[in-house]
Amino acid sequence: MALYKFDKSIDLFVRATKKIPNGIYGHVSPALAVPGEFPYYAASGKGSRYTDVDGNEFIDYMCAYGPMVLGYNHPEVEAAVAAQRERGNCLNHPGEVMVQLAEALTDIVPFADWAVFAKNGSDVTTWALQVAREHTQKRKIIMARGTYHGAHAWCTPGHGGIIDEDRAQIKYFKFNDIDSFYKVIEEHRGDIAGCIMTPYHHPTFADQIMPAEGWWKKIQKACNDEGIVLILDDVRAGFRLDLRGSQEYFGFSPDMACYCKALGNCYPISSCVGRDYLKGAASRVFLTGSYWNSAVPMVAALTVIKVLKETNGIQKMMDFGNKLSKSLIDLAKSHGLQYKFTGPPTIPFPSFANENNFFRNQRFCSEITRRGSFFHPSHNWFVSTAHSDEDLKETLKAADEAFAIVKKEFGS
Ligand code: PMP
Repeated sequence: MALYKFDKSIDLFVRATKKIPNGIYGHVSPALAVPGEFPYYAASGKGSRYTDVDGNEFIDYMCAYGPMVLGYNHPEVEAAVAAQRERGNCLNHPGEVMVQLAEALTDIVPFADWAVFAKNGSDVTTWALQVAREHTQKRKIIMARGTYHGAHAWCTPGHGGIIDEDRAQIKYFKFNDIDSFYKVIEEHRGDIAGCIMTPYHHPTFADQIMPAEGWWKKIQKACNDEGIVLILDDVRAGFRLDLRGSQEYFGFSPDMACYCKALGNCYPISSCVGRDYLKGAASRVFLTGSYWNSAVPMVAALTVIKVLKETNGIQKMMDFGNKLSKSLIDLAKSHGLQYKFTGPPTIPFPSFANENNFFRNQRFCSEITRRGSFFHPSHNWFVSTAHSDEDLKETLKAADEAFAIVKKEFGS
């Protein structure tokens, strides 16, 4: 198998660093994978695959880090988008589609009575905190330490430009440690506006952690008893675990939920939905953006919901995710290697069970990526409804070679 090269990606990156701070920033920075071993720039995408600027085609196990859920350039989404683009996108007023989308979301998410729209996950997580504060007239927000809720000052994992005051009212507990959760409530009783949490713990550079038995019931009860607004940050997991929202997968019911990634199948849109009792506060917290009323991403979102529903898309992704993990674990075993998956089947995080750093995984992911399956070594993956058995077959062929290299270099 001829191995991919990334010469044009690297040339572009060198040019970029002269004009763009860091060249490529944020979660897609080359520094978060293995510099030089992965493509840096993409050229096009179709279905479960994309092509980089060097002309290499990849079966994509990152799905644009989540936004691609039905496949790149999905025919039905693109047809709806093209028709809307013809009529107009960003105009003086929102289109009818904004009302239709709010109706569709409140229809599928059982606890939701209203919905608002923005562009990014961070827009809506930050806004949701303000709604909780406006409603309760309290200051503090509690969250699980190490959880990613976006790039705004109160939650960014970065340090640049952040002052203590940005986080003075944010208090932390440990995910799945109910005593630490009760303790933080005890310490700040009477001054907690909201609790924001992802449906399960999905840090970068670490295994994913599913909620312990009874975790969500206890969280929901404590929030209800204490008058704390429970905000589900479903930006990453939303519409990949359950079409009704991830709270249904884990059996609880929050007061607000935030969505982004899977909602638009690569068109920029996010949403916050909430219960009726918060509608007054929601209407008093200012919310806007230059492109936030654009109709094209809203049409895309409406179509994504329709297609996921009509095609039983979540189950399709679950089935593929289960096949992917089982077949890779079995293949690794046949090489005498211990490979494992954490998290849900549709948002898996694989790694080697017996490594205490990411060297082995980085080596494996580099080798398989050079053979046409894009495997990220330190961020959770995403699967889509476009992934097929044919994709898996090709991936396993490449994995067989990559596992053999890892075995030779690292041993069992
Ligand atoms: N919350 C979670 C759980 C996320 O995964 C992300 C994005 N990775 C965000 C919030 C922020 O979303 P965005 O990058 O669109 O602002």
